[in-house]
Amino acid sequence: MITQLNQLQFDNRLVRELPADPETENFRRQVAGAIYSRVNPTAVKNPQLVAGAQEVAALLDLPESIFTQTEFAQIFGGNQLLPGMEPHACCYGGHQFGNWAGQLGDGRAINLGEVRNQQGNYWTLQLKGAGPTPYSRTADGLAVLRSSVREFLCSEAMFHLGVPTTRALSLITTGEWVRRDMFYDGNPQLELGAVVCRVAPSFTRFGNFEILSARGDIDLLKQLADFTIRADFPHFLANASAEITADIYLQWFTEICISTAQLMAHWMRVGFVHGVMNTDNMSILGLTIDYGPYGWLEGYEPDWTPNTTDAQGRRYRYINQPRIALWNLAQLANALYPLINAVEPLQQALESYRVEYEYCAQRDMANKLGLSQFDPAQDQTLTDNLLQVLQTAEIDMTIFYRRLAHLSPDDIHQYTDQQCVDIVRPAYYQAVDTTAEAAMANWLRTYAQRLQQDYAVNGNDDNQRRLRMNAVNPKYVLRNYLAQQAIDKATQGDNSEVEKLLQILRNPYDEQPEYEEYFAKRPEWARHKAGCSMLSCSS
Ligand code: AMP
Ligand code: MG
Repeated sequence: MITQLNQLQFDNRLVRELPADPETENFRRQVAGAIYSRVNPTAVKNPQLVAGAQEVAALLDLPESIFTQTEFAQIFGGNQLLPGMEPHACCYGGHQFGNWAGQLGDGRAINLGEVRNQQGNYWTLQLKGAGPTPYSRTADGLAVLRSSVREFLCSEAMFHLGVPTTRALSLITTGEWVRRDMFYDGNPQLELGAVVCRVAPSFTRFGNFEILSARGDIDLLKQLADFTIRADFPHFLANASAEITADIYLQWFTEICISTAQLMAHWMRVGFVHGVMNTDNMSILGLTIDYGPYGWLEGYEPDWTPNTTDAQGRRYRYINQPRIALWNLAQLANALYPLINAVEPLQQALESYRVEYEYCAQRDMANKLGLSQFDPAQDQTLTDNLLQVLQTAEIDMTIFYRRLAHLSPDDIHQYTDQQCVDIVRPAYYQAVDTTAEAAMANWLRTYAQRLQQDYAVNGNDDNQRRLRMNAVNPKYVLRNYLAQQAIDKATQGDNSEVEKLLQILRNPYDEQPEYEEYFAKRPEWARHKAGCSMLSCSS
């Protein structure tokens, strides 16, 4: 453990090893021939800590008490630099909603540097909302409290759910006012500005490679790929100075395909909808990155998207996410092609995405239902039917799977349809008609038979099954209205709900009976309230 922020050890590999933009003035521009531009955070009036995550401080060997030191808010609000910090913004491009968008880049994110902790692990610190950079295009480089609470809480919630993600060290209000047109209706409002300090082994995105390939800068593409492999995928190299061959690029790309498949399976398992799966929002490490207009399925609606900007095409709807990830990987394959110069093995790597996703999705489904393993011959139909039945009425996904664990296969045979449905009734948003009730009851009976067979063959029981189910079906997720309630309070200067949600979401699979009220369907008032159902990109 260290006790002071100025004891953090920075070893800024990216800045040191990759070419910098020679221009050091901060103005918006196209940046060619460089991986990053040096840029300082913009100073703010009155940085105040809203919340900090002690688990993330611990990754940096810092104690929880660090958050209360006065310089903490100064540094992570953007007013001061620590010795060793070398602030910079990275250049990237991306496919937005299926179309190549050219240069994007860290428009409101500034990397402070790479901390090397006592175990030798590297953690890049990044301020989001710390002012304009050369990549800010027409926007201001700032973030507001609303979107920053959402980013802070969801980063940590995802981590505790076991979903790979960038982390969040701190959330700080700046004391400055930021103009935002939240509804894109020509009525901008002033909102309190905020800065989140994000933490990840690397923030490199598919788009960092795409922009170099699109510009035909193959030399720089190779430099970034080699740096990334050496820094974040060293297991592909026999030693630190080993030459990186086409075969190693392929192994690397295959690993990106696999980790992205695993990430998609996690999102689908917990009911998370990212909302903006552009290739610039896809992490090379398979992390969830860039929490914007994301949301959580409440009623199980496969076509739901939280993003108003995508309401027409619904490209990034829940059910489409695994397909979009594959499309995004295909864009990355195109970008990396000049390093590999062969189509067939890249296609094989993309095929490994399909295989891995199917494997994970089946395993997760088996676990969600508490089966020892997924037997495609019978369980494909069982799960297909379930996903149909879940759409016969508005049924809360999270509550449904938790309630399903209560079912006891030995009892259910004597039950009427109504009694069967009673097991999962708390998940229903409205009264159920008899047709929908019969459909659910029939499914539950088939499921009970499958469980009895599983118990007989594998010797497990209700208790073991419940443990298995409750370990993958969260009880507490960051429902959109819960985040909004925390935002509303924080806007009034009361951070207690942010703290409380962070605390509950630390143990999302535990019963936590003292927080039972957070295991509840979305209340009716939240159905169409801004922030609780639909969100825009305006943040
Ligand atoms: P996003 O859709 O939020 O992932 O952002 C897409 C691009 O827009 C990225 O290059 C962001 O850095 C940039 N961007 C988003 N919001 C802002 C902002 N307020 N100021 C400057 N750039 C922004
Ligand atoms: Mg982004």
